[in-house]
Formats: sequence, C-alpha cells, structure tokens
Amino acid sequence: MTIKLYNTKTRSKEVFTPIDPNNVRMYVCGPTVYERAHLGNARPVLVFDMLYRLLRHEYGADHVKYVRNFTDVDDRINATALARKEAGASGTLEELIKARSDETIEWYHDDMDALGAMRPDEEPRATAYIGAMIAMIEDLIAKGHAYAAEGHVLFKVRSYKDYGKLSGRSVDDMIAGARVEVAPYKEDPMDFVLWKPSSDDLPGWESPWGRGRPGWHIECSAMAYELLGDSFDIHGGGNDLTFPHHENEIAQSKCAGHGFANVWMHNEMLQVEGKKMSKSLGNFFTVRDLLDQGVPGEVIRFVMLSTHYRKPMDWTEKKREEAEKTLGDWVKATDGVVPSLPDKGVVAALSDDLNTAGAITRLHELSKSEDKASLKASIHFLGIDIDKFAKEQSILSSIEEGLKTAPIVEALEIELRKARLEKNFARADEIRDGFKNAGLAITYDSDGGITFKREANFDPTKLEALK
Ligand SMILES: [Zn+2]
Repeated sequence: MTIKLYNTKTRSKEVFTPIDPNNVRMYVCGPTVYERAHLGNARPVLVFDMLYRLLRHEYGADHVKYVRNFTDVDDRINATALARKEAGASGTLEELIKARSDETIEWYHDDMDALGAMRPDEEPRATAYIGAMIAMIEDLIAKGHAYAAEGHVLFKVRSYKDYGKLSGRSVDDMIAGARVEVAPYKEDPMDFVLWKPSSDDLPGWESPWGRGRPGWHIECSAMAYELLGDSFDIHGGGNDLTFPHHENEIAQSKCAGHGFANVWMHNEMLQVEGKKMSKSLGNFFTVRDLLDQGVPGEVIRFVMLSTHYRKPMDWTEKKREEAEKTLGDWVKATDGVVPSLPDKGVVAALSDDLNTAGAITRLHELSKSEDKASLKASIHFLGIDIDKFAKEQSILSSIEEGLKTAPIVEALEIELRKARLEKNFARADEIRDGFKNAGLAITYDSDGGITFKREANFDPTKLEALK
C-alpha cells in the first residue's frame, strides 16, 4: 500500500519512497536521561512507534532500521550526580553520572514498554560517540563552517545559505525572536556551540580544543551518520525541536557534505484538560504516576493514538474513562478469538500520514461487524495488547472483589475506625502506613468512611505484620 507522510521540509503530504526499500531508515530524537519521562515525552515515542510498525508491515520487519538516541551529556544529570556525591554517595563523579543515566534509562524502558512501544533497533548513547562528534567538528572547521575560540567551537550559521528553511524563518527573524546567547567568543550571535570547555567538576573528553564536551545538536548529526549513513529516509521528533535543534542538525550534516534526512516529521504537543502541562500549573505528571494510579498502559496508548499526531493532544479524565470502556468492550468482543490479518481500512488510514484517529474509527466499525478475527489483529496492529489488558483487568477485579471479603483487610479496617474514634492516632497511623506499605492507599471520606485504592505494588501478605 502507498504510504503518504507529511514532510515539514516541503510543508506537504508526499508519497513516501524509501532510498532503499530493503533498508528503510528512521532517526528520532530521544530523551535526555535526567529524570522520569513525563506524559508529553511519551507522545513522540508512541507516534514513531506506530510509524515503525507500519513501515515494518509494508517493507518487512527485517528491512527497517529505527534509531533513537539517549542524550546522556547534560548539566541536569551532572547536577544530580554532584548532589549525591556531596551527600556522601560513594564512587567518582563519572561513576555517579553514569549511574544516574543508567537508572533513568531503565525507568524509560520500563515506562515505554508498559505503553507497548517497541524498542528501536539501536539506542545509542551520546557518550559512546564522542570520537565521531570530534571528527565531524574537525571536518566542519576544515570546510570553513566552524571556528574554535576560547576552548569553544562554534558553527558559523551564516555559512549555510539554507539555514531556517525547515522552520520557515530567516536568520534575521530568528535573531529577533530567539533568546540567543551573546558571548564574546562568538563571531555572530546566531552561531551555536559544537564543543564547549568542561571545568574539573564536569565530565569532559580530550579534544583538539582542550578538555570539554559536545553541544547537544552535534550528537544527533554524528550518531545518525554513524548508524544510518550519509542519507536516510525519515527524521522525527516533537515540533518543539524544529528550531533550533533540527535546524542546527541539518546545517551541521549538510555542511559536512551528508545527504541527511529526506522526510522530516514532527508531532504536536500534549496538553492536560486543555492546558499546557507544567509544574507551575500543578498538572504535571509522569507516565509512571499514571501507571501507579492503576491506569493501564494500553489505555494511555489508546488515548494518545486517538488524536492525529499533527494536532495538539489533550489528555483528559473523560478520554481515559472512555478508552477504558472501549477496550473493555473489545476484550468481550474478541474473547477466545484467534486474530487473522489487520483490516485493510485500518492499514489504509495509517498509511495516510499516520491517521491513527481514522484507524480507531474503523476499529469501532469492525467491533460491530462479524469479523472479530480481523478486529483483534487490527487492535494488535495498533500496538495494543488486548490480551494483556484483559488479564490485568481480571486480576484487578478479582483483587477488588477479594478485598471486600479478605478477612485481614476487614479486621484491620475495623481496628482503624476504632483507633480513630478512640483518638489513638499512633495506632491509626501505624495501620494506615501498613496499608500504604502493602500497596493500598487509603483516604478518609468526609462522612467518616474509608476508601481503599489499590496501587501497582499491592501485596496483601505484607498486612500480616500489622496484626
Ligand atoms: Zn536530535
């Protein structure tokens, strides 16, 4: 089937023609691994996971190569490591930095796996490609597109005539609109950093310009070249990366003489209940927060895919509830059914610039038809593991059923009420903390009742110690 994709570079939907159909190549900018992924970070993961699945379907699983990097050179990672060192953690600063990156990458994998996102074929870490970055920077200097000054190396933006084409702005507009750093070592305020010096308390690598570390933009250019070659098919990321990150990637790679990416794809941002997600608005949460609240990964994925990737995605409680209900209906409709092949209408919708919303509309139609085998195959094609969801749901309901009758929960609940009535707050707190430790969060209702909420770490055997 013909695949059409919207190319940011040409601002039009184009028929996708790979350079080599036996080796379709895609690069997506990955996370900076300094903390848990928030819900907005999951959007590009799911969008490009869907594209990866579609490409594998069309060209064969062995003929698609997907690369997504981990940025593990970052001041926020360094800051956490330094704080741990100052708090007495053992190990060198380098070891603590690596430990922080390692733990964040592990969280990222756990969280994205729970959303049904396939792991890319390659997940390079920036720190493993410093040599390639230095080589590329040297090449850019030799070709007159970069210069060294005071331990820094800067890219000469005005040496690349097409700078600004991707985001559709001229260099002068960008200077007026952007927060450009004016520094004495810059020939032009728009020039951006390829390499910068490191102080002794920061990670650094030896280079022709002294001990230092790479700027962020050069890592994607260098890793894409190392892993995908001179030219490749698709480059993706969130639309917040279009400028300056992707503009800079293009400038670096093109000036180094590489063909770089043919199709540029950008997903829109995520909102929560109609508002931008931010810590200051108090509506900021991570993927792990949702999973811990008992929201299944399949539900998060369904809600995310229900909006086209080029539209803002609004996460709402109402959508979550509806998704849970829909998936519950589909569990019933596909119970005991052996999946056949994905429905042509679903594949056609996805082939039309990844129209996931259209694919879901088609799934609703299929759920009303007789062809449940195709429904199940199509649900799987969207990366929704309906069997896993069904299993989790039945475990959940049996635990909730069991809770009502579990003698130990009942006995402790009565004791907790009694302790509160008698104002024996020490014992009440002890029981409440014990419930919490066993994965049962409790809240006191205004009418004196107690509501239990099961969490991901629920383990009733831990309640025995409370007796
Ligand atoms: Zn990038």
